[in-house]
Amino acid sequence: MKLYNARTRSVEEFLPQSKKSITMYVCGITPNNAAHLGHAFTYVSFDVLIRFLRYLDYNVKYVQNVTDINDSDDVIKQANETHKTWQEVATYWTNDYLQYMDELNVQRPNDFIKATHVMPKILEIIGKLVETNYAYEKNGFVYFDTQKHKVYGILDHFSDRELLLLSKERGNNTQDLNKKHPLDFVLWFKSQHNEPSWPSRYGPGRPGWHIECSAIILQYLGNQIDIHGGGRDLLFPHHESEIAQSEAYTNNAPFVNVWMHTAMVMYKGDKMSKSLGNLILIKDVLQKYTGNQLRWYLLSKKYRNEFAYQEEDLEKAALEINTILSILSKFSTKKAVAINRHDFDQILLNDLNLPLALEYIKTICSRITDSNTTESLTNVALVKSCLETLGIVV
Ligand SMILES: [Zn+2]
Repeated sequence: MKLYNARTRSVEEFLPQSKKSITMYVCGITPNNAAHLGHAFTYVSFDVLIRFLRYLDYNVKYVQNVTDINDSDDVIKQANETHKTWQEVATYWTNDYLQYMDELNVQRPNDFIKATHVMPKILEIIGKLVETNYAYEKNGFVYFDTQKHKVYGILDHFSDRELLLLSKERGNNTQDLNKKHPLDFVLWFKSQHNEPSWPSRYGPGRPGWHIECSAIILQYLGNQIDIHGGGRDLLFPHHESEIAQSEAYTNNAPFVNVWMHTAMVMYKGDKMSKSLGNLILIKDVLQKYTGNQLRWYLLSKKYRNEFAYQEEDLEKAALEINTILSILSKFSTKKAVAINRHDFDQILLNDLNLPLALEYIKTICSRITDSNTTESLTNVALVKSCLETLGIVV
């Protein structure tokens, strides 16, 4: 299979470490808000990749995290404002997310891990990084020393100034006076008295966001994994930081073979994001459209091409999948029919070209007539098999 790999910045043949099994991780949510179309696009896209790899007979071990605690105070702030505990807030939004993923027929990960469940691993990694001078402690905080390890492997075409701007924009406090270098990032964050904390040799605190994903991967999937995914906005500093600290800890590179990123969903001229207040929530879309309809719409976009959400496109997609499902509903599924999926599989093998896969299905559907001819029955079986890989419920 050919996949675009951000590590090598090229479309290349995907070669898993094992012929039979694949280890895969996709960054999960911070449970402080309702899931939006950006989330839906990311998790639906990776869900199709996993379904397809499993169809190709790989045993895919898929792990995802929940950032139930981290160095930002998103969840804690909401808990204080709503007079709930931070655990209640995190659980509420995690369940909300899972409910809408279920409605979109996104398969659950094999392991769905809260950051707070890997605290010993997090502290073990930080301990070793401090011991080996990749990290340093200052006033109850621990930082990764970005000057000790080549951190910015994927983005090495960016200048330090650009990295600083990006870093700042995405939550890194570059003014922090404890730091040796403004790009250094937090591994352990000193908690205030009224904030949740875990004991450590640096004092009570909580982990930084980046170290959580590394710890979960190293504990559940091993020192080197086949595929790591996430939204493109996570590439820096989150994924670059994951690479730096993991490779420094294991002394093994590359930490990840293929880095895959889904493009941003735009709305009203900007990336859909909570801070910009231009979110289209999954729950609102599902008031009017079915999971199948929203899914078909998202699959009509190439996973690594940015696109702007427009309801007219969703309406059009909804009609398309309705037509396909109504054609299929006229045929009974009892008889097993031999099919040839070669053409469809080739489309997916080419860097998961989902828009083309949808066109292919529409073409095959147009050849299905009402009469129960062998050709129609074969095409019905073919379309059903393709839709199953795409996660459309027939
Ligand atoms: Zn992550």
